[in-house]
Amino acid sequence: QKTFPAQKEFHQAVHEVLDSLRPLLAKESKYERYNILQRIVIPERQIGFRVTWMDDAGRIQVNQGYRIQYNSTLGPYKGGIRLHPSVNEGIIKFLGFEQIFKNALTGLAMGGAKGGSDFDPKGKSEAEVMRFAQAFMSELYRHIGPLTDVPAGDIGTGAREIGYLFGQYKKLVNRYEGVLTGKSLLWGGSLARKEATGFGSVYFAEEMLRERGESLEGKTCLVSGSGNVAIYTVQKLLELGAKPITVSDSTGMIHDASGIDLDLLKEIKENRRESLTSYAKEHPGSRFISVGEYPKDHNPLWAIPCFAAFPSATQNELNEKDAKHLLQNGCICVSEGANMPSTPSAVEKFLAAKICYGPGKAANAGGVATSGLEMSQNASMTSWSFEEVDMKLHGIMRGIYRAAKETAKEFGEPHNLVLGANIAGFRKVADAMIEQGI
Ligand code: NDP
Repeated sequence: QKTFPAQKEFHQAVHEVLDSLRPLLAKESKYERYNILQRIVIPERQIGFRVTWMDDAGRIQVNQGYRIQYNSTLGPYKGGIRLHPSVNEGIIKFLGFEQIFKNALTGLAMGGAKGGSDFDPKGKSEAEVMRFAQAFMSELYRHIGPLTDVPAGDIGTGAREIGYLFGQYKKLVNRYEGVLTGKSLLWGGSLARKEATGFGSVYFAEEMLRERGESLEGKTCLVSGSGNVAIYTVQKLLELGAKPITVSDSTGMIHDASGIDLDLLKEIKENRRESLTSYAKEHPGSRFISVGEYPKDHNPLWAIPCFAAFPSATQNELNEKDAKHLLQNGCICVSEGANMPSTPSAVEKFLAAKICYGPGKAANAGGVATSGLEMSQNASMTSWSFEEVDMKLHGIMRGIYRAAKETAKEFGEPHNLVLGANIAGFRKVADAMIEQGI
């Protein structure tokens, strides 16, 4: 905290992990002997760079670019690229740090990394997005490679951005290789990658609920966000016969008591790239609440009664008061599609209430797991069917749940999947670090 006083999200993520590790460290002295904690919180390599591009009016624009290669113990660095005006070094560090443990939990050979820029793709023309992506890759290309570091999408980086990034990489290195995941299906992408994080988060919820003899069928669910993760969370919930009734974006939220209209949501967000105000206009009976109307201290989305909640927008979007509302209204399951969407005091509430709570690094690991499957397909120059990838994804999500649950039981807190996921992920990376020497 003394060295990086401004990086509050990074401190939050580190505190949560270190706190969970207490019982492990009390039982096992080798991690201290090998100074693993200090080694694991400092990235192996951190790249910061200037991204200069020209807008449509001929003005020169400058953005910050980042790639933080956190830990390569288990495989090539792997993690998304976030394009959002809120991006700074602390945000990328928090995401990269989380990615180490998430990737370890998938059981695939992937190290942890994250990157991004404070560039905002919103409101930019296609040509501007392309020029930015080309400028970003003109520096990034020298630091990545299919066996070194394989970036992917995240907030603001979808198939379009991945396409422009890949095109520039290929030009610069003169090689066609699987250096990015989340690629188009026309040229090396994996079926089911687009759906994977949302589907995975719902599969994780199903696993948690099964243990209590519950299911999602016929149940009312709340989803936040309306991007890649949220859309495919809504889709899987509908497929399972559940009733998702909310989505949100940076302008506000939709409450549609009849159930979210998935086709309309996709049309507005994936094709037209419009805000959710269009949804309310085109879907009579739904209600749009703008961010300006939100109460100061809580998000009205989480105050709607539900059985299960799927925060799938961004970090710290669900606070203690929101958690209280969810619990008071009978919510018994929270599965985090986003990274660190619940504040520490909200997490405390969920754990104290002993509901089914799936922390992001476990519940949203389906995206990176399927990116790992995309890497396998690229390396073997094959492509698997949707069903095959989805089946593997489902198996991986079950495996992550089991690993977190069994570890939580081993340490005497069977309901605490935060502790379970953190210890299971940490132990794997730390033991491998010890074996690989300093
Ligand atoms: P998208 O860019 O596709 O969608 C993000 C959604 O969240 C949009 O609806 C956006 O609103 C909203 N949002 C983003 N930032 C804010 C903010 N500061 N305030 C309010 N709303 C906001 O991103 P993804 O769906 O890919 O990512 C969502 C979350 O899931 C992130 O936490 C990401 O790190 C995490 N995640 C994503 C994975 C993936 O495979 N994509 C994998 C694992 C985790 P608007 O449309 O107005 O911009």
